[in-house]
Amino acid sequence: MSDGGTTTLPGVVDHHVHLGLVDRRLLAGGPVTEVHDLGWDPREVTAWAAEPPSGLRIRYAGPFHTAPGGYPSGRSWAPDAAVRPVASPDQAAAAVADVVAAGGFAVKVALHAGMAPLPEDVLRALVGAAHGAGLPVLVHAEGPGEAERAIDVGADTLVHVPWTEELSAGVIARAAHMTWISTLAIHDGPGGSAGLTLALANARRFVAAGGRLVYGTDMGNGPTPVGVNEREIELLGTVLTGEALRRAVLGRVDAAPALAAPLPVPETAADLIAWLRAATRL
Ligand SMILES: [Zn+2]
Repeated sequence: MSDGGTTTLPGVVDHHVHLGLVDRRLLAGGPVTEVHDLGWDPREVTAWAAEPPSGLRIRYAGPFHTAPGGYPSGRSWAPDAAVRPVASPDQAAAAVADVVAAGGFAVKVALHAGMAPLPEDVLRALVGAAHGAGLPVLVHAEGPGEAERAIDVGADTLVHVPWTEELSAGVIARAAHMTWISTLAIHDGPGGSAGLTLALANARRFVAAGGRLVYGTDMGNGPTPVGVNEREIELLGTVLTGEALRRAVLGRVDAAPALAAPLPVPETAADLIAWLRAATRL
C-alpha cells in the first residue's frame, strides 16, 4: 500500500528463534512482529508467549524431540527440559500429546548424523502422531543423509536449509512441497563459508523446484542480533527478490500492515533492509 511517499507492510516474521538464549525484551515494539521459538522448555516458553514483549507474537514448538542421548542433549545452551528423549513409538505419541497440551504449533525433531540416531519406527511415530494432531513436523537435519531422511518421512519443514551436503536433484524434487527456513547467516563466520556455499546452492535449487523458502535466523545461536538480522536478509536476497523476498521475510500479505516507512515498496534485499531501518510500527 502507498500513501504519498509512505508505504505500509506486514511485520517481519522470524521462523526460527530461541528466546531462551536472548534478551527477548529487546524485541518489544520493533519491526519483528512474530517469532517462532523452535526449541525450549515448554513451561518457560508457554509463559513467555502468554505475556510477550509489547507488539510481539510468540509461537513455539516446545522441546527438541530426539533419541536418548541424541542432539542437542548435553549441549551447554540446551537445558534438560528443552530436550525430550523419545525411545519408542509409544513415547512418541505421548510426547506429541504433550506438545498439543502445551499449545505448541509444531513438533520439532532433531536428526543429527553425528550423535545417537533416532530409530526409524520412532521417527515415523512422531510424524504420524504430529500429523494426526494437525501439527507440522519441523526437522533439524544435520549430516549425511539426514535431510533426505526427513524429506522422505514426510516432514513439513527443514529448520535450516541443508548445509552439510549438496542434495541430489531427486531429493530436491521430493522436497518441493516443503518449507525450508533460511538460517543462512549462521554459516557466515570464520570457517563457515563451505556450509554457506552449500546452503545457498541447495536453497536456489529448492526455490527453482517450487519450494517455499522463509526467513529465519536461529536467533540465540551465537552472536545473532536480537531484532532484524540484516545479513540474513542480504543472503536471502541472493536467492529471492521482489514479492518472493517480501513474502519470505514479512508476514502474510493479507494480514493487517504493521509497519510504515517513507520509502517505496522494497524490491531488493538492500531496499528491504533500508525500508525496515526506516520503518515505524503502526
Ligand atoms: Zn535453532
